[in-house]
Amino acid sequence: MASVGPALEIARLGVRYGATVALADVDLRVEAGEIVALVGPSGCGKSSLLRAVAGLVPATGEVRATDRALHALPAHRRGVGVVFQDHALFPHLDVAGNVAFGLVEARAAAEVRRERTAAWLARVGLADRAGDDVDRLSGGERQRIALARTLAPQPPLVLLDEPFASLDPGLRTRLSLEVAGWLRELGTAALFVTHDLDEALAIADRIAVLRAGRLVQVAAPHELMARPADPWTARFVGHENVWEGDEAARLPGAPTAALLLAERARWRPGTGAAEGAVPATHVAASPVRDGWRLELEVPAWGTRVRWTARPRELPGGDAPGAGTAGILEAPDEAWFRWTGRG
Ligand code: ADP
Repeated sequence: MASVGPALEIARLGVRYGATVALADVDLRVEAGEIVALVGPSGCGKSSLLRAVAGLVPATGEVRATDRALHALPAHRRGVGVVFQDHALFPHLDVAGNVAFGLVEARAAAEVRRERTAAWLARVGLADRAGDDVDRLSGGERQRIALARTLAPQPPLVLLDEPFASLDPGLRTRLSLEVAGWLRELGTAALFVTHDLDEALAIADRIAVLRAGRLVQVAAPHELMARPADPWTARFVGHENVWEGDEAARLPGAPTAALLLAERARWRPGTGAAEGAVPATHVAASPVRDGWRLELEVPAWGTRVRWTARPRELPGGDAPGAGTAGILEAPDEAWFRWTGRG
């Protein structure tokens, strides 16, 4: 739904439980129609942030949605849709009744209610289950109905708390991509919590990284991967080649801390010299989804580098033997360096 101003604007948001500070000083904007993923280690405050926006836990600071101040309103008057991972449906309503529930609450006319309910049942692939009891649905089906119930009234903003967490990986990927498609089709903005970074990378416009109750970075997926805010964030998003302090001092450019973007570097067996290349001996290999993960000893840098080789990049497509001498080419664009305090 078209709207003016950001779908959500959070300023100085704080949540505490007794002496525990769950969230401190969080500023975050979600633009109209934007999908923002919220990631971070367990216990970092992701759920608390969502609950504070929804009005389900007491919080300090400001929460605005399309220029309305939400922080002063009780949960039921905030007008944001919330879907939690436990796919809580109303047991006394059938499948169609659950989908229609939000439309009833939004006081949609009977005609609109019938049309939208039917459209959403079709969209989530459960048109033939309209009259079923919800306890006859599988976990994936229940979650589809929970999503349909929340999206049917076309709220400008939805909050999704690990909505796919209890599903099998295959189903999970399919449903998360489908939901992203529905959100984009409707122009609905979403703030969604996930512990699955791949899911965040696949469907989010921007990713917000939370660490111990504070936002450390909010960036587009490629930006987060290529330019993480600090070494902690780099490791959190899965980078293995990150060095700090004394370990970083022997790297090219002697940075305070550095990240080698392995996919922009290349190793090959053999000897020789090239710009930005160093001798690197292969030490150990383990199979990964798309090839071999090699561990390379680089004496010039006093460290080891992990690098994934596609089979076509290796002689015979096979992992090299331990002790194979080689050359690691790491041009300047393969490095991301932090200066100042890491
Ligand atoms: P996440 O969703 O990232 O796992 P949470 O928001 O659930 O993190 O929790 C943030 C912090 O607040 C954690 O230290 C957690 O133990 C604490 N916490 C969460 N809910 C409560 C609660 N109801 N009472 C006390 N502490 C809580």
